Amino acid sequence: MTTVAENLRAIRERVDAAMARRGPGPAVTLVGVSKRQPLAKLQAAAAAGLEDFGENYAQELRDKQRDWPTLAEAGGRWHFIGAVQSNKLKYLVGKTALIHTVDRASLIAAIDRRAAAAGVVQEFLLEVAIAGEAQKAGAAPSDLPALLDACRDAEHGAARCAGLMIIPPAGEPEQTRRWFRELRALRDRLRSELRRGDTERIDLRHLSMGMSADFEVAIEEGATLVRVGTAIFGPREG
Ligand SMILES: *Cc1c(COP(=O)(O)O)cnc(C)c1O
Repeated sequence: MTTVAENLRAIRERVDAAMARRGPGPAVTLVGVSKRQPLAKLQAAAAAGLEDFGENYAQELRDKQRDWPTLAEAGGRWHFIGAVQSNKLKYLVGKTALIHTVDRASLIAAIDRRAAAAGVVQEFLLEVAIAGEAQKAGAAPSDLPALLDACRDAEHGAARCAGLMIIPPAGEPEQTRRWFRELRALRDRLRSELRRGDTERIDLRHLSMGMSADFEVAIEEGATLVRVGTAIFGPREG
């Protein structure tokens, strides 16, 4: 049986090789997706050098943070990559480095309020349904300018949009490449339209794309965050 540490080493080598194929570009952060994985596996990954963990369920995140406070103390980071319910924001705002899955203006306003009350700036990504009908979650590309306006207009300036995220429709990695390429083109276009004075609230430096099956293709297409679960931790429980 391979261990988490061995899996992690193999994934890191594949990340490095994909970055080499890509050529010069941004750093890539490996986010270990640890939903429905026991804490012992997360801790084994941290001992092997993993610093970023992605969770999908707010209460599971809360419980893991309660049971493992030393991750954050040691400089590790939690990411939230699941569907965001506004009544669960208290478990996310100020408690995660990045919320990857924001798709509506009301959520941006709510994050801004909570972050201001907590005295923090909360970074988030906009999840994009770039493939249209085939996707369950995310904002339509045509909604993105209005969502960036919601960020510009937020009362406290405490929510910062750091980029875009996609969960493309299932398919072979080479079929998925086009969605990664489109997300990057969309981000580049939006970034070229940013205004002076946006920098505090919007920077669009991140592209969160690629999972166990296709993270190498995503890196070749410009991912800055890849979200890898089973290839590191093995099958999920439950
Ligand atoms: C579960 C999940 C992943 C990880 O999927 P794997 O196939 O296990 O790598 C990545 N991103 C999101 C949004 C997820 O929900």
